[in-house]
Amino acid sequence: MNDWSLQCPSCPGAYEVGAGLFGCPAGGSGAEHILRRVLAPGRPGAAEVRAAWAAGGGSFERLRPLVSARRLAGDSGYDILLGRVTAELQRMEGHGFEVTPLVETQSLADAIGRVGRLWVKNETGNVSGSHKGRHLMGTLLYMEALRESRPGIGQKVLTIYSCGNAALAAASVAQAGGYELHAFVPADVDPVVARMLAGRGAIVESIPRSGTGEGDPCYLAFQLALAQNGWLPFACAGNDNWSNIEGGSTLGWELVLQLEEKGERIDHVVVQVGGGALARSIAQAFEEAATLGIIAELPRIHVCQPEGGFAFVRAYLLALAAIARRCGLAFDLSYDHGADPMAQLQETLSFVRSRSAQIQETGVFVNRQFDSAEVQSVLNDIAGAPGHFMWPWDGAAPHSLAHGILDDVTYDWFYLLRAVLRTGGWAEILTESTIRDAYLKAQHHTGIRVCPTGASGLAGLIRLTESGAIGRDESVGLFFTGFDRSRTQ
Ligand SMILES: [Zn+2]
Repeated sequence: MNDWSLQCPSCPGAYEVGAGLFGCPAGGSGAEHILRRVLAPGRPGAAEVRAAWAAGGGSFERLRPLVSARRLAGDSGYDILLGRVTAELQRMEGHGFEVTPLVETQSLADAIGRVGRLWVKNETGNVSGSHKGRHLMGTLLYMEALRESRPGIGQKVLTIYSCGNAALAAASVAQAGGYELHAFVPADVDPVVARMLAGRGAIVESIPRSGTGEGDPCYLAFQLALAQNGWLPFACAGNDNWSNIEGGSTLGWELVLQLEEKGERIDHVVVQVGGGALARSIAQAFEEAATLGIIAELPRIHVCQPEGGFAFVRAYLLALAAIARRCGLAFDLSYDHGADPMAQLQETLSFVRSRSAQIQETGVFVNRQFDSAEVQSVLNDIAGAPGHFMWPWDGAAPHSLAHGILDDVTYDWFYLLRAVLRTGGWAEILTESTIRDAYLKAQHHTGIRVCPTGASGLAGLIRLTESGAIGRDESVGLFFTGFDRSRTQ
């Protein structure tokens, strides 16, 4: 009955959405095994998506044609399920997942020297104060629909690794679904967040940090718990659980359909990247909307990371270098994975700052030649040897004012890399001064109480405007993703 599929870049066949898989069963072989939910042609069609959106309701009601849980449970089963969880969220959090505001902000555009329209999705008022909850709501609905469609599947214990907002969102959503949650958090987690977690019934396990290079110790503890206890991955990442990306893609879909209602379009989006789930989800929504014919063409999808931790930008540059090599183009970055990482990362920063024209030319080439045999063969090679492109941050201990995007690994890097290359986007490295500038301007000019991490996409836009990569008169979409809990503001 189900015609949607789960596809992996390293596996030949596809898996059924109703099979009860969360990660690729062939994972662990060294290649990139990561599932992506793929819609069937015409199911849904654009008319069905538009009609559901027009019917009103919360985000997961209006976007139901794009949710696997509704595919599995049918309309009435899905309504019961969504109604039950939403009622619990309303009781405990004061509201469920409403469509979040899309704000046009001329004052902010003026402040950063832009003429084109600037649109901001304000996620700071969403469940638990960030976009993270909607990712996990996708997973909760999928788990519940699966249990109803396949009697005998018991309720599992959930687990997450996080430094803050994701754990908080997981605790809210797990509590609304009646699930037990274990959260692995850094020992120096914000005490406000720790109290909020405990208040939502999460069992908090604090993990000390030692060095870098081995990966996030919270992630390693989470992996161990999955293997040893048979718990279910409830983290805000798609590598262990694809349904998280489906939930997160509701954010991109809201933007697509809100713009359509206004008769507007955007030329670019700029998205902050830590673990990559947010940006991957947004890219997936735009790609699906283009496939369905709801948007005529994809915006360019740009991403940004702090100079204190930029594992994704490194992977992007190494991918450009590999494509340039295959296609006979000049690209003067040589990165020796075996050499001292501090020196290699420093040289990479110097390369980015001194050779932006070369990076831009290569990006334009890849954008134009994306479907060519040469580019596609390099992407296949990357999926076959992901460790040559993405590996845990091995520079100095990650540090930034935007501390929510300092993930050691960009777990959702592969599909995101494809989307950035396909659309001719850039991957920017942000200085701390630009991150601070963006944070202050975001709050001052929009009145939205967004945290530095949540405003860091604006820092990317400031950089991309200064460099000329985004024209001052073009239209742009941003995502203010986290509420500012600091007490000084
Ligand atoms: Zn696979």
